Order: sequence, then C-alpha cells, then structure tokens
Amino acid sequence: MADEQLVIAGAGIAGLALAAGLRNAGSSWSCVLLDERPALGSTGGAITLWPAALAALDRIGVGADLRAAGHAVGPGSIRARDGRVLRRLDVPLLAVRRGELVEILHGRVAPGTVSFGTAVTGHERTSGGVRVLTAAGPLDAAALVGADGYRSQVARTLQPGLGERYAGYPAWRGLTRADGLEPFQVWGEGREFGVVPLDRGESYWFATLPEPAGGTAPDELAHLRTAFADWPEPVRRALAAAEPGTVSRNDVMDRDRLRRWTDGPVVVIGDAAHPMRPNLGQGGCQALVDAALLASLLAATGASPAVAFAAFEARRRRTVGRVARASRAAGRAVEAPEVLHRLSALVPDPVFRRVLMRVVGS
Ligand SMILES: Cc1cc2nc3c(=O)[nH]c(=O)nc-3n(C[C@H](O)[C@H](O)[C@H](O)COP(=O)(O)OP(=O)(O)OC[C@H]3O[C@@H](n4cnc5c(N)ncnc54)[C@H](O)[C@@H]3O)c2cc1C
Repeated sequence: MADEQLVIAGAGIAGLALAAGLRNAGSSWSCVLLDERPALGSTGGAITLWPAALAALDRIGVGADLRAAGHAVGPGSIRARDGRVLRRLDVPLLAVRRGELVEILHGRVAPGTVSFGTAVTGHERTSGGVRVLTAAGPLDAAALVGADGYRSQVARTLQPGLGERYAGYPAWRGLTRADGLEPFQVWGEGREFGVVPLDRGESYWFATLPEPAGGTAPDELAHLRTAFADWPEPVRRALAAAEPGTVSRNDVMDRDRLRRWTDGPVVVIGDAAHPMRPNLGQGGCQALVDAALLASLLAATGASPAVAFAAFEARRRRTVGRVARASRAAGRAVEAPEVLHRLSALVPDPVFRRVLMRVVGS
C-alpha cells in the first residue's frame, strides 16, 4: 500500500471532481475511485450550475471546458398554474448536459484511476488509516472519501441507522426538441414543470407531481402528457417534443441529518454528506464546491488527512446548511405558490435576486 493512497467511494460529480482537482493541484495523493455502476454515464438530462460551482470548476481546472460545453441560461420566469408571472428571474446560470459534465471531469482524472463495477460495502479504521471493504475484497488506504451519493455506505458506516423518507413525489427529467422555449417554471397544485434551454436545438425539462413511492408508468412520457394536459402551452409543447430515450424518473428522498462528516481519515462530501431536494438546483453545485475545497486542503497542507478533513467540515457545514434551508423554502413555495405571488408584490424582483444570489449564488 502506498502511504499516500486515497480511496474515493463513488465516481459521480463529487468523486470525479475531487480526483480531477487533486491532479490539477499536482498533489502527491494517488487516488483510486470505486464505483458500483458498470461504466461512466449519467441520466437526468442536464444540470444548472450557479456561479459558486463555476468558480469551483475553475479551481479544478475545467471551468473553460465546461463553459464551452454549456449554455448560458437567459432571463426566465416563475409562473402560476394559470400562466400568470409570479416572479421574473435573471440569474447567471450555466446549463450543461450531465453526460458532458461527467465526461469532462473523467477526462481530467489520471487514466486507470476509476474502477467501475466495484461497490463499497463498509470500512474499518486501522492503525495506518482505513480498510475499505468491497465486494472484490478489502483495500487498505491512508484515507477514504465517501462521495457515494445520498444512499452513501460511508455515511451509514459513520452513523448507523441513518434513515431516509420519501418526500412524497418523484422527479422526472429529460430533453426536448420543442422550438423557441425560454427558461420558465410553472408551480401549482403541488406540482412543478420547468424548462432550461440548451444548445443544438434541445432544452432540458423537469417535472414533479405527488404520487406514491416506487411507482412507474408503462410510458412515463404519456403519463406526464396526461397529467399536465391542461397546463400552460409551453409545458404541453415541451412534453409533446420530449425525447423518449432521455426520460428518467426518481423518487425524491429526504435523509436524516448526518451528525458528523468526518471520522479521522474518513470524510463524506457531496450528497453523501448533505443531500438536499432538487429545488434551486444546488446539490451538484455544492458537491463541486466541496470537491474543490477538499482538493486544495489535501494538496496544500501536507498535514494528515484527518486535519484536512476536519478543516473541510468546519469550513463547509454552515454554508451548506444555509443553502439547504433555502432549497427547502423553495420547495415549500412550489407547494403554495400564492405565497410567492404575495411576496412578489412586497419584494421587487431585483431585491429578490440580490437575496437569492447572496444565499445560494456565490
Ligand atoms: C430532479 C433533480 C434535479 C437536479 N438538478 C440539479 C441542478 O440543476 N443543479 C445541481 O447542482 N444539482 C441538481 N440536482 C442534484 C444533483 O444531481 C446531486 O446533488 C449530485 O448529483 C450529487 O453528486 P454526488 O457526486 O455527491 O452524488 P451522485 O451523483 O449520486 O454520485 C454518487 C456516485 O456514487 C456511486 N455509488 C453509490 N453507492 C456506492 C457504493 N456503495 N460503492 C461505490 N459506488 C457507489 C454511484 O454509482 C454514483 O456514481 C438535482 C437532483 C435531482 C433529483
């Protein structure tokens, strides 16, 4: 075992960004990424990135590539179920296809670093660091980073019994070829539908509506077209031209709060540390900010990983908590959009934008 071996559980956004960031920083850590999936890939259509995430990507050394692959999102609106504008929004977001994001990050990781088809099943502290348990056998390392998403095995080993609950609705996502769509979200009846234009004639769309957990429809697109049949015209147009092969459906889950993110040479980042609902599109952004900070702490300090991990948790907990609260508040507004409408009368769009940017934008 090399003294400087770092095992990263999970080659999603957070894990790949950490490995890319360490390499970009010229760090002496040698990374091994283990992912249970059989190969690189990503469902979910696209993702929107706020300025803080772009700054993190710059620090990782891939900001220019992402800006070239992505599409700057123009001014948009939040509308009520009847089409009335509740709020006009102009925030500097970049929309990028998820597949392109993970490919760019993967392209910056040292070749041969990622081992797909390898599930992490647990870990144990050892005198020299940590023993990572996998289906293929144990692996000794100096440190372990759990970047294994909201169902994180590493988090569950840190806090056995970590519970999760269904939020009450699934999220559908995909791409559409409908022409002339502007960015919008429509909120009403506890449902939402949103569109973010991309390039090459495609837009990203997402939808939520309350349904029992674990459900599936024989044809998810047909199901959504029926459910949103009397919603405003751009919603119906986006669904009419949606590309069937890009549609995904996931139950949205709430997980218990993780009381600590670190245990000596073990740390969790991204959704593994702080999963949040999709409202405001912050989970991936915060995962990127985590990865850039942890890469710089590990590369710079020369200190033990435990010291770097403790510094990471101390720097990130408060900010992430603030963002998660804002995301929850946005989720409540989807359930009661009239509140937003009343707020709109009191708080002008530019003031709302300033507050939003202060909380989640930087
Ligand atoms: C509908 C929806 C829309 C969203 N939109 C946005 C958005 O616009 N902007 C935004 O910033 N965020 C958005 N998010 C959130 C974002 O997708 C997540 O926060 C982000 O993917 C978290 O990245 P991660 O790397 O921490 O976890 P993940 O992306 O979940 O990656 C975890 C990786 O770990 C692997 N893994 C899991 N368990 C194991 C194991 N035991 N052993 C080995 N490997 C394992 C998985 O295969 C996966 O590759 C959205 C989420 C949803 C549901």
